[in-house]
Amino acid sequence: MQEKEEKNFLPEVKLEKLIKLLDITEEDKENLRYLKSRLTFEDIYEIFVKFSKHLYGFEDFRKIVVERNVNLEELRKRRTQYLLKLLNAEFLSPEYIESRFKVGSLHSEINVTPDVFMGAAGKLVELIYEKLKEKIPKEKVEKVFISLLKGLFLDFGIILEAYEYETFSKILLALDANKDAIVILNEDFEIVYANKSFEKLIGIEKEKVKFKTPLDFMPEEYSSQYRLLCDYCKKSDSGVLKEVIYFINQRTKVYIPTEISFTRLKTDRGYFYVLDIRDLREKLKLEEEHRRISILYSFVSSFTRMLTYATSEKELMEEYVKELVEEGKLSYAGIYVNSTESKPLAEYGVKKNRFICISEKQKGEIFILLLSKEREQFFQGEVNLIAETFSELIRKYQTFKEYTTKLERDNLTGLLNRTLFVALLEDEVRNAELNNYSFAVLVFDIDFFTEVNVAFGKKAGDKVLIEVSKRLKEIKEISEKLARLEADTFATIVRIENREDVIRIIEKIKKAFEEPLKVNGTSVSITFSYGISFFPKTAKSADRLLALAVKALNEAKKLGGNSYMFAEEETGIEIREKIELVNEVKRAVENREFILYFQPQIDLKNYKIASAEALLRWEKEGKIIPPSKFIQILEETGLIKEIFFVILEKVDNLIEKWKKKKMNLRITVNISPVQLKSINHVEEIVKHFRKLKNPHYIDVEITETAMMENVNISTILLRTLRERGVKAYIDDFGTRYSSLIYLTRLPVNGLKIDVEFTKKIDKDVKTLEVVKTIISLARALNLETIAEGVETKEQERILKEIGCDYAQGYLYSPPIPENEFENLYFKFNGSS
Ligand code: C2E
Ligand code: CA
Ligand code: CA
Repeated sequence: MQEKEEKNFLPEVKLEKLIKLLDITEEDKENLRYLKSRLTFEDIYEIFVKFSKHLYGFEDFRKIVVERNVNLEELRKRRTQYLLKLLNAEFLSPEYIESRFKVGSLHSEINVTPDVFMGAAGKLVELIYEKLKEKIPKEKVEKVFISLLKGLFLDFGIILEAYEYETFSKILLALDANKDAIVILNEDFEIVYANKSFEKLIGIEKEKVKFKTPLDFMPEEYSSQYRLLCDYCKKSDSGVLKEVIYFINQRTKVYIPTEISFTRLKTDRGYFYVLDIRDLREKLKLEEEHRRISILYSFVSSFTRMLTYATSEKELMEEYVKELVEEGKLSYAGIYVNSTESKPLAEYGVKKNRFICISEKQKGEIFILLLSKEREQFFQGEVNLIAETFSELIRKYQTFKEYTTKLERDNLTGLLNRTLFVALLEDEVRNAELNNYSFAVLVFDIDFFTEVNVAFGKKAGDKVLIEVSKRLKEIKEISEKLARLEADTFATIVRIENREDVIRIIEKIKKAFEEPLKVNGTSVSITFSYGISFFPKTAKSADRLLALAVKALNEAKKLGGNSYMFAEEETGIEIREKIELVNEVKRAVENREFILYFQPQIDLKNYKIASAEALLRWEKEGKIIPPSKFIQILEETGLIKEIFFVILEKVDNLIEKWKKKKMNLRITVNISPVQLKSINHVEEIVKHFRKLKNPHYIDVEITETAMMENVNISTILLRTLRERGVKAYIDDFGTRYSSLIYLTRLPVNGLKIDVEFTKKIDKDVKTLEVVKTIISLARALNLETIAEGVETKEQERILKEIGCDYAQGYLYSPPIPENEFENLYFKFNGSS
């Protein structure tokens, strides 16, 4: 195989030309054969003994002999044979050329460079000349020697050709690894070389495309584009075609749009054209997907509006399909239960032949969303986005349905029962997350109800419950979501956010029961004990909200009735340990034991460091303690606010210092959620930023959760900082999907995709799709994306491919001290 190609690369024409150039005549050949007849094998062998001795004086040569375990005796014999063959003067015989070609290839392989080879050849000529003088009559010496020189030069020519070929074939081999298809055309636009990617592109083995033209693999109707290509190539040395050029895969018959860049090479064998053919399908598809997702984006925002304001399940469903079709530019959307053969719950638009289904299982039923488009395909990203909204829709639909059917209500009082209340609470949590509001869970029970039951009997007890429920239902603030959880325990959900509002409601309840109840002719005074929890302050899940409100209720009961108690906020750390730690941390702040580490953020366009994230470390007795051990304490004690200002000042000075060292990068600092809790804190932050010299080189990160819980305050802060050139990023993005819809409203510049996603991106297709969706959406909204926690090359490759802008992670560097970071910077960015 190798040999076959070798011949291709030393065309006979060229050899003949060389012979002509050297003017090797019949007489020369005669002379050579004459010389051969005068020399014995031993004579020539002796020449090569001397030759070896000469070479042995060079270290390079000795090294080769040792390394390759060369048998010198063997080598001398082979060289003798070779010279004898040369003297046969059968220059055009294929065996001869091939053997000489192999010598060149071997030289190239063992690193005998052409200059070394020619140097040694000079010495060889001298040695042969000496022998020649001994062996032939004086008058013949000159003529024979000249003929010999011609023969040797031809020989060297072939060997040098092999060198060139070796280099060339190495380059071609490397081209096989190229992702783009590469072909080399000769002057007649015939393919002389094609790489593996071209083979894949057109579906034909690369050996079989030789001497065909690119036109042979293009759709006929596009032949004008081929002429265009040829024109371009002839006109300039290099360039990129603006037009999309189509190829057709011969196996699958699929049309493949490509972008071609070309280079024209002038060589001693005429012009060659090197075409780099890039398959545009992925890129075009990605662009189209981005476009689709930004269209869907307007649907997503109207969807969340719908969830909050719809008043019935029917209205919700109908509006959903309508908006999906209209805003999402589809031709049809229909919702079915269990089978698409059944009558749809709601539908809109005209069904087409091609459609897709998204299904969602809830409480034993399967809901199916049938979608179709005019012609275009559905992208995974958009399907994911729609699927998310569909599953929200069905959840909401279920709560609606349960809420309106009497079945699940409490038989005795007609209030919601416990199951229903929990479902409602879960729904409220989702809604509040989505729409960023707070609410309170109020759990209350009748004081001394057991006594009532004992004194008047169970029947009377039931009557009391019915009467109590009636009166409660009349209080409009609590009536909508009023439930009886068990016996005499009631609960409700109210969209309010502070204790004063709750107390007002409790007063209302008290007022409603000022008048005693009449039971069996006796008046019974009713009071309640109350336990209250808040979303999101006390807890963020329905379970915890309820459990903590009940716990508070039990506390309240201990006070003897007619009292209320607010639930304690949840914290993680044990009290005693914590007090110790708090003291230690306080001391550490005073002793300035907190320092900054820096982690690079890499621009995936050029793999240079674009910025650094400043991350806090506690240098405690020579040990470095990570933030997980102390950030919470700093936050709870409010010390984080002070430290933040120290960090800002440090970072500001560092920018100054780095500028002087010609380090051109931004620095990112983290803002803690507690810094967003009050507008006063925000004013402080702004005040500190005003004092800085380089605010326009500083970026801030706020976690998604913190941002969502303090939308108004964050917005004010970020707007003000933006005026000073500070960029803002949403940290840990993706941990709360719901917030996607807020993106346009927030003055942020980008998203940091959470580590959890990056970790799985190369292992889990679903994660990959989610990240693709996030990136598409970010692009549509003109936001930058930074992937956190990039640890492998593969993750990097995928991220780059799906359009992520920056990467941060151990693949490049963990967070490191300032001086180490400086070195790293120059390693990545060079020193200018
Ligand atoms: P973060 O802001 O999400 O910071 C990124 C964290 O991911 C850093 O942990 C970093 O070391 C880690 N990380 C970076 N690359 C990789 C990777 O390739 N793989 C993995 N598994 N992890 C990686 P670190 O430095 O321990 O910080 C933890 C958190 O502490 C930060 O999370 C941030 O929330 C908080 N924090 C750190 N410094 C400060 C600060 O100055 N102020 C405030 N408010 N919070 C800070
Ligand atoms: Ca961060
Ligand atoms: Ca993060």
